[in-house]
Amino acid sequence: MTDLKELKQNVLMTAKKAYDEKLMAGTSGNISAYFREKQWIVITPSSYDYSLMAEEDIVVIDLDGNLVEGRHKPSSEWKMHAEIYRHLSHANAVVHTHSPYASSFAVNHQEIPVVLIEMIPFLKGKLEVSPYAQQGSAEVGLNAVPILERKNACLMANHGVVAIGGTLPEAYTNSVYVEDAAKIYHLALCSGHPVVIKEYEEV
Ligand SMILES: [Zn+2]
Repeated sequence: MTDLKELKQNVLMTAKKAYDEKLMAGTSGNISAYFREKQWIVITPSSYDYSLMAEEDIVVIDLDGNLVEGRHKPSSEWKMHAEIYRHLSHANAVVHTHSPYASSFAVNHQEIPVVLIEMIPFLKGKLEVSPYAQQGSAEVGLNAVPILERKNACLMANHGVVAIGGTLPEAYTNSVYVEDAAKIYHLALCSGHPVVIKEYEEV
């Protein structure tokens, strides 16, 4: 039995961790967990300072964006979270960041090949780029779904990163590995010619 209070605490803790880790600047990025039995999304509020955020600031909505609980508006990107939960039964948590190294590849519409071993178990291969969609639209999520059916994360063109997981800690770890892979790949491109792990077959 999932506990709503526990989900709110996990969303808050993960949001603060991601902010401290500099995966999001200002009030950008958003984090949610899915209460699947009730079809409720437990999500960070819209435009709210992460350092001031408390458990009571976390918002609960249904898949259509109707407010179930909370004193703020949900993240402006709640539709992206809703489409991911609607389409992917294995996703129970979404971490969306604008982490800088990964977002720079998203701006270039450039994939990150499998250059590190962690990319295989955590991200399930190379990082692909989902097509651009207007911020806040359902298409942001719908464009990422075909990639997230096979992968635990993707780059979103001219936007940022979305990582999923069966749990919030998993989704968070995946988002950290996305930025780590992007940073190391960037440094490797600057200092030489990165060698791709050829033994890994994409599914
Ligand atoms: Zn965003």
